[in-house]
Amino acid sequence: MPVARLGRPSLRPGAYVYCGSANGPGGLRARLARHLRADKRRHWHIDHLLAAARVDDLVALPGGNECDLVARFAAVVGNNSPVPGFGSSDCRRCRAHLLAVPADFAWPAMPATAPLTQRQAGADDADAIAAVFSPSFRLLDFLPALHTVAEDRAFIADVILRDCDVLVAEHQGTIIAFLARDGAEIRLLYTHPDFLGRGAASMLLQAAKASGVDALELWCFQANTRARRFYEHHGFAAIAFTDGADNEEKTPDVRYRWRRSG
Ligand SMILES: [Zn+2]
Repeated sequence: MPVARLGRPSLRPGAYVYCGSANGPGGLRARLARHLRADKRRHWHIDHLLAAARVDDLVALPGGNECDLVARFAAVVGNNSPVPGFGSSDCRRCRAHLLAVPADFAWPAMPATAPLTQRQAGADDADAIAAVFSPSFRLLDFLPALHTVAEDRAFIADVILRDCDVLVAEHQGTIIAFLARDGAEIRLLYTHPDFLGRGAASMLLQAAKASGVDALELWCFQANTRARRFYEHHGFAAIAFTDGADNEEKTPDVRYRWRRSG
């Protein structure tokens, strides 16, 4: 089976579990419908497999996370990824998002995942927001380390919460993502590393778009490919590229703009 960037992996006949997420328009319903449709342009790794495989069962987990699911399955059936990298090009955590499972495989019990909620932040939220910002910002390991965690906290409390409209996403009462906006400018949008891929940032961005602005703009580091894919997926277009001379980290960045259409 030819699969983009994975060569021509071969799979033994058998049972496999694939874990994916659906943060695009239409959510789980649209994504699962696509997986079940035969006539489509093959785009994802799973599309190539589904061209040759039969779907026995589907399990949808609203608010779930594909990597948590892989870990949960691996704990039950072993971390048996026949094609390393399959479905996990963006993932640093899993060997693959496809696992081989025994033919008599039964789904592990899936506790319901709590939904995400959102609300406006207040001054009392500075510590919780900083606890999202610091570890998330440090995932950008191509940047020089310029600030301590204490400085991050002061920046959130004294600058961001003073100057910006800040929305937070919560999971079971804990802040897991936030979006800080000053008019049309998105100053910060960060998700805690443990909660990436659950749709929190998409939810906050939708709220920002729905706030009545005609356009949104932001700076993103050019090397932050995950964020760039996210913004481009959500309708942002790159309008300028810099060499980084004007930012604190002296790291090339890209200016993105979204405009309300119609
Ligand atoms: Zn993963």
